[in-house]
Amino acid sequence: MAGKPRVGVLALQGDVREHVRVLQGLGADARPVRRPDELAGVDGLILPGGESSVIDKLARAFGMREPLCAAIADGLPVFGTCAGLILLADRIDGGIEGQQTFGGLDARVARNAFGSQTASFETDLDVPALGAPLVHAAFIRAPVVVEWGPDATPLASLPDGRVVAIEQGALLGTAFHPESTGETRFHARFLDRVRVRSGAGAPAL
Ligand code: GLN
Repeated sequence: MAGKPRVGVLALQGDVREHVRVLQGLGADARPVRRPDELAGVDGLILPGGESSVIDKLARAFGMREPLCAAIADGLPVFGTCAGLILLADRIDGGIEGQQTFGGLDARVARNAFGSQTASFETDLDVPALGAPLVHAAFIRAPVVVEWGPDATPLASLPDGRVVAIEQGALLGTAFHPESTGETRFHARFLDRVRVRSGAGAPAL
């Protein structure tokens, strides 16, 4: 089946519009996802940046937590940025009382890892899997990956060695926000996974 990959952006809270714009620019059929029936209609999902504890609570309130966990376990390609990376991780440090994640990524992620002194910063990252040029990355109250399992592969680290991008099968996570700096290569990599999953080839001309 050729055609545009259908990709959802979880739209409970966070920077949904930026992701929709990048996905549309890459030729995807991108739409916000708030309800289980909307989730059932997509071949891939982005978990945006925002506030992971709020997205967790809203997902439970909207009956989205279980369908999301089930879809991820079933192999749905998912790309999480910042709060989205936290929500993808099986284990978190620094969650609020009772905070849960959707899980799927065999990793432990520390929330707000840069403290209040350097809550936000931008830097250029070498991401060998993406090649040249360097990735200009914006970190906003960002997490880091502190531990990962054998099936997960770190894609990028800061100069101090802390891992800020990681991949495991159809799951991709970045501690920073490619959607806000014009960086499209992570989204393109994610869309490749979505096309494999959906059986959609190159867009029909
Ligand atoms: N600090 C936020 C959290 O814990 C993440 C920040 C972001 O997504 N920019 O969810």
